Amino acid sequence: MKKKFIITVDTEGDDLWANKITQKGLKKITTENAKNLENFQQLCEKYNFVPVYLTNYEMSEAKPFVELARYALRKGTAEIGMHMHAWNSPPIKHLPYNPRGTHTYIGEYSQRLQWEKMKYLTRNLEDVFQVSITSHRSGRWWFDEFVLKCLKKLGYIVDCSMTPYVSWSNCVGNWKYGKDYSKDAYKGEYMLSSKNIHKSGCSGIYEVPPTILKQITFDSLTIKHSTVWLRPNGNNLEQMLWIKEKVKKNNKLDYLEFMLHSSELTAGTNPTFKNKGAIEKLYLDLEILFEEISKDFDGIGITDYITTKYGRYKKEMVAGNAKRL
Ligand SMILES: [Zn+2]
Repeated sequence: MKKKFIITVDTEGDDLWANKITQKGLKKITTENAKNLENFQQLCEKYNFVPVYLTNYEMSEAKPFVELARYALRKGTAEIGMHMHAWNSPPIKHLPYNPRGTHTYIGEYSQRLQWEKMKYLTRNLEDVFQVSITSHRSGRWWFDEFVLKCLKKLGYIVDCSMTPYVSWSNCVGNWKYGKDYSKDAYKGEYMLSSKNIHKSGCSGIYEVPPTILKQITFDSLTIKHSTVWLRPNGNNLEQMLWIKEKVKKNNKLDYLEFMLHSSELTAGTNPTFKNKGAIEKLYLDLEILFEEISKDFDGIGITDYITTKYGRYKKEMVAGNAKRL
């Protein structure tokens, strides 16, 4: 049986690398990139891949994306998951302004508000797309035991917020700093422990981390250690093909997880692909990468990856348990 290929797209407004929080409140967040996702969807379908659009609040209101996703869902060629940018996800509450801060992590709000935000966005996505929402990636890679508890109560099955080998502890939110996953090695999927998200356990929620590997390269006299992602940057096709080969040959790993932001598929709505030429090059790289991957991997949604491997998880049971908590 072929190994699996999972495509995750953080589906969010334009240019969220630039701080949108000001002393006067939140700057307007545009969703121009929603108009340009059709080419990407077509490219995925060409290779029978099933992109997982991890969708945030503003994109659930962006008509071109909503129409594209509804059509793809009817055909079974996409999955919609949840991706929360807590600072722009109802109910909105602005924390005291920090001039040195940036976009607020979900963990900076009270637990009551975190729960309200998670519940609101999940229900909103279920209303808009008329499907159960069972996969999640937290905004700015924030993940902890409380977020896990909320996911469980809301009937989720899969999370993909944890980035093995990578620490976000230098990235400020409003006041707090990001999470540190640098001690977590990439070992594929596992069921999370509800007491400690860095350990496996029986919470009922599976972690399916993005594919991130350690690479050692030699250049004349120097040895370079790097952490490499299956995530295009316009200049890393060879590296991504290397990752694919490594996972193909690894007996313990049976999936590859790619990641990209929806805003990286439009010129100028991100800091990496700034013009038309850069987007054309990105699509050229994607075409080569996807063709190579399709030889050894079958496309699958992230929830289906778990349910086909471990059996359908009883979502109703989780929901029932949640009421008793
Ligand atoms: Zn995001």
